[in-house]
Amino acid sequence: MKTIRTAIIIMLLAVACKSNTASTDNPSGITFTQEELMILNQSDSVMYLTVIGDKSDSLILRKTSRDFTDEELQSKEFQTLARNLLATVQDPSQDGVGISAPQVGLNLRMIAVMRYDKEDKPIEPYANIHITYFSPNIKSGPEGCLSVPNYRGIVPRSDSIIVSYYDINSKTNKTDTIGGYTAIIFQHETDHLEGILYIDRADSVFFNQKSADERKLYEQQGAYTKPAWWPYN
Ligand code: ZN
Repeated sequence: MKTIRTAIIIMLLAVACKSNTASTDNPSGITFTQEELMILNQSDSVMYLTVIGDKSDSLILRKTSRDFTDEELQSKEFQTLARNLLATVQDPSQDGVGISAPQVGLNLRMIAVMRYDKEDKPIEPYANIHITYFSPNIKSGPEGCLSVPNYRGIVPRSDSIIVSYYDINSKTNKTDTIGGYTAIIFQHETDHLEGILYIDRADSVFFNQKSADERKLYEQQGAYTKPAWWPYN
């Protein structure tokens, strides 16, 4: 009897040691949730866009997004998201100048911005982005948002900012000083990562007739239909 008890204790200790070893040997730093992985792995190029009029979507749009861990920055899911975020904002049915991860259902700190301040105006992805300085000089201008269809608004923004981010191409952390219209897009998209929409900051919001007509067309084409893999009702 004593031998059996000793054997059981040894077995339990072995299991405890194994699980302990596994957790220290595998500090993967990958903390994507199952829902996030489903979106990251199943999305193919153009992703579903969250809209403020949908209750489940609005909960994502109103949540603060987290930074990617060092390990996540090296993951294939991270690369896929960067690629698909660009494909989504550049999709002819959207024709946006910027997009953020919450707009494709992910509370992760990634945006894509059209660089009006660069030749050929490329749309570039930025991860773990934070605005570290806002110029006190404020200017108001028109803005719209892919997640707030049919509306536009006049929004006051700083005319220049300093951003810190993880550069996907060089795989290093960088800072950049940005001004003009590009700075407005950066502020709009980074706001999304804090759960803030332009309608929260706007001096005025108005119905955009042109956008409404376009929306109707997209709906007829089924562009606003949720894909079958979408996990939220
Ligand atoms: Zn937006």
